[in-house]
Amino acid sequence: MQAVVVYGPGDYRLESKPIPVPGTNELVMRVESVGICASDYKCFTGAPKYWGDDSRPPLVQRGITPGHEFVGVVVEAGPGGLAHHGVQEGQRITAEQIVPRGDDRYIRRGQYWMAEDTTIFGLRVFDGAMAEYMLIPAEARVHRVSSSVKPEHAAFAEPLSCALHGIERADIHFEDTVVVAGCGPIGLGMIVGARAKSPKSVIALDLSEKKLELARLCGADTTFNPRDVDVVQAIRDLTDGYGADVYMEATGHPSAVVQGLELLRKLGTFVEFSVFSAPVTVDWSIIGDDKELDIRGAHLGPYCWPSAIRLIEDAVLPLDRICSHQFPLEKFDEAIAMVGALDSPSVKVSLLFE
Ligand SMILES: [Zn+2]
Repeated sequence: MQAVVVYGPGDYRLESKPIPVPGTNELVMRVESVGICASDYKCFTGAPKYWGDDSRPPLVQRGITPGHEFVGVVVEAGPGGLAHHGVQEGQRITAEQIVPRGDDRYIRRGQYWMAEDTTIFGLRVFDGAMAEYMLIPAEARVHRVSSSVKPEHAAFAEPLSCALHGIERADIHFEDTVVVAGCGPIGLGMIVGARAKSPKSVIALDLSEKKLELARLCGADTTFNPRDVDVVQAIRDLTDGYGADVYMEATGHPSAVVQGLELLRKLGTFVEFSVFSAPVTVDWSIIGDDKELDIRGAHLGPYCWPSAIRLIEDAVLPLDRICSHQFPLEKFDEAIAMVGALDSPSVKVSLLFE
């Protein structure tokens, strides 16, 4: 089979590899589609978070096949594999990006997404989906997806589950004004999730008019482009001068952190999902002395996969617009480049297998 193999930053190669053979409680899946994440781009371009620096060891393993947002069809099972994962041959499945294994306090307490051993498909230990076939190990958390949706739409379950987990962290109330900063795949998923919680108002912020249009299709009541509008003032005007109740940061830009601290009301909630390429500097006293804010992190999409899959199967999102670009496996490098291109016309870029 053909598979992308990681050799180093900027050096990923398409190679022939043997089709994996499933062992006990394992499956082999024929990949139908794999989405390309901003993190794939950051890894490809050598971000220290993935390749290590003075303060941290590398996260990504040379020789691994990348790709953690995938969907495919079960084509083979090792002994016990079908029963173990609750699937049948020919069924379409996806699996959570993290493969929790071993025994640590997080796994024991059901907080598996924080497992000490960060084995994420396509990063370490377990090969990802930029290949014609992929091994699903015993520890994988497998979910079934209807075969009636397009493969690239089905693979959107990964970013959508992450977005929904961010929303769960936000603890939204009916009278809340929720601001989502950044309308990429995660931000759009957060808008859908926030809308499903029925707050008073969902406001989306982005520099791209096209993405703001998508935000409205996903359920945003109001959209602002910070290029044209003083966003902090505009949101105060909409909230009797108080500011927003909840701020969801999904841009990865330091300026969006400063903006969020400014536009939140006192006792508001700030949810951070992004990965930043540089440290962020803010007046930290806003959090305590000025506003007594709740600052919450969010990582991966624990316990949100069934909801994400249901939203996709129910066609709640404009996925034909969100899944904007599809490439064949051979053009993986073009696809990764498109994800990182400045002012890229893409929202979600995917590889699509015939
Ligand atoms: Zn991802």
